[in-house]
Amino acid sequence: EGRPGLAREINKVAEVAGYLWQKGWAERNGGNITINVTEFVDDEIRQMPAISEPKQIGAVLPHLKGCYFFCKGTQKRMRDLARWPMENGSVIRICDDCASYVIIADQPVMPTSEVASHLTVHNTLIAEGAQKKATVHTHPIELVAMSHTPKFLEKDVLTYLLWSMIPETKAFCPRGLGIVPYKMPSSVELADATLKELDDYDVVMWEKHGVFAVGTDVMDAFDQIDVLTKAAQIYINARCMGFEPDGMTKEQMQELTDVFHLPK
Ligand code: 13P
Ligand code: ZN
Repeated sequence: EGRPGLAREINKVAEVAGYLWQKGWAERNGGNITINVTEFVDDEIRQMPAISEPKQIGAVLPHLKGCYFFCKGTQKRMRDLARWPMENGSVIRICDDCASYVIIADQPVMPTSEVASHLTVHNTLIAEGAQKKATVHTHPIELVAMSHTPKFLEKDVLTYLLWSMIPETKAFCPRGLGIVPYKMPSSVELADATLKELDDYDVVMWEKHGVFAVGTDVMDAFDQIDVLTKAAQIYINARCMGFEPDGMTKEQMQELTDVFHLPK
């Protein structure tokens, strides 16, 4: 309809939802996407009545006052979101108490159960003035498998391993993969731990569950997970051929870091 900016962003969500399904990362309703669409909201949307009672977020998020988000619906499939975004997602408006939201849509699609993690991260992105509008949670097979052994859960072990598998990994994921020890899905504890790790890392691993990424838009968030997963696949393929991959040398990593002006 007459909102090209909003329509374009929601189309990107649908496109990425399709990729997540094709990748095999989105069994049933697995994974969720939210995007901050506040900049695209016009007076007509602002005046739309809520079609739900206010729902509690579980946290007070002062920077989200009056903001709008498009969210995948809870229990909705990525493969359905890809084809019918407005039936498998909805727009929510954060209430003035900054602790609850209402649904603005034609259909009462409840937002994802991980809404606390997504909104907690969006709150900080806004507070920091980061031009990042999208958060993605998904279940990439190889990275989740690697989170099932304590050696890969030690600080920065997996980051250095993945960086060393193929040069572009560090170039496009320069702050690496943070680790959140197992927490109950959809919990506020998971949201808080995710936020903390995102201070230092581009993407966060939820032990034995999945990953959570932030991006300028949903494509950008997807790309980071895709790059890390590619590196994980190279590692696993080498192991399947019966050897431990050498990885790039220290010197090769250092040269890359210097030439691309990457953080250490
Ligand atoms: P939702 O269907 O509520 O988005 O949950 C999927 C999921 O991956 C929970 O971690
Ligand atoms: Zn999940």
